[in-house]
Amino acid sequence: MMSNRVGLPKLFKYFFGLSVLATLCIAEVSAPALRSFEGVEPHMGTLVRIQLYAGDAGSAESAFRAAFDRISQLDGALSDYKPDSELNRLSQSAVNRPVKVSEDLFHVLETAQSVAVRTDGAFDVTLGPLTHLWREARKQGHVPEARALRQAASHCGYRKLHLDRANRTVLLDEAAMQLDLGGIAKGYAADEALAVLKKTGYRSALVAASGDLAFSDPPPGRRGWGIGIDSLDAAGQPFTSTLTIANAAVSTSGDSEQHLDYRDKRYSHIIDPRTGMGLTNGLTVTVVAPTGIESDANSTAASVLGCKLGLAFIENQPRLAALFVERTIGRSHLLESTRFHKIGDMN
Ligand code: AMP
Ligand code: MG
Repeated sequence: MMSNRVGLPKLFKYFFGLSVLATLCIAEVSAPALRSFEGVEPHMGTLVRIQLYAGDAGSAESAFRAAFDRISQLDGALSDYKPDSELNRLSQSAVNRPVKVSEDLFHVLETAQSVAVRTDGAFDVTLGPLTHLWREARKQGHVPEARALRQAASHCGYRKLHLDRANRTVLLDEAAMQLDLGGIAKGYAADEALAVLKKTGYRSALVAASGDLAFSDPPPGRRGWGIGIDSLDAAGQPFTSTLTIANAAVSTSGDSEQHLDYRDKRYSHIIDPRTGMGLTNGLTVTVVAPTGIESDANSTAASVLGCKLGLAFIENQPRLAALFVERTIGRSHLLESTRFHKIGDMN
């Protein structure tokens, strides 16, 4: 019996931020032939970590290579930071004419639009003009001008993005539209990295891309992957709640990583499409779903909806569970959806 314990404290500090910290551990690996290996590479503007079980370092290395190559390929298609990405070329070329896109890009846009419809536009990948304005504002250290916000908002709106599944084409209603998949692409990339690993025989793995984690089968001899979510209770005391999951994904959205502090307010990098403003609700939302693309998009969406509407939305979606942590000075208020602690193997 080999004992193996792997901690990813930096990662969790990274994605759960101030009020929610988590650690991941695996203990007592029972299959002696398999060892846990971890690979880390920078992709999609963050460090992506992959953990898997393999017989030796050489085979783990080639598995990491294949998985990271797939993530890199997806970044090339879905990034709005890379000027020549498929996404950015689409934003330029699809104005008033249908443009054929890759299956990856179509699938992500299709999923995004379905979350947009179900959340009445709280999730909206056409917010590029606003998210770019806020990116600049974070660099400059002040909130964008009202006129610039109005102007950017006038080029946004998920109803201006049209998809044709039969021809796999995309059409945009206006020039100056800009698509931004920052709220959904990492989750999809995590799913696809797991799929590559599965195809080459690595069925027990985890992929962590910033706040988006996807898990396949449990580690050998285990019931699932343990995730500890450290938080503060109503009295401001630390406590840990744990989940054991497999074949599922967990995403956390909030303002801990990217934000602008301006005149006593913290503006998140997540934009409320109704106002064009960065969220100031101090929420951190963790969503569990069968796939990363779903957990990623829906954690961003639930952050915009806020505690009350967000929780009602999650309860209505049988594939989703969520934990909402609302931060106020010195303490946190926690709300869990009814399925949050009943989650196990979701596929
Ligand atoms: P996440 O960290 O997954 O919650 O995604 C946040 C990122 O999604 C932001 O940095 C933007 O790129 C993008 N984004 C911001 N607001 C929204 C929104 N309301 N709907 C969809 N994507 C958004
Ligand atoms: Mg997201």
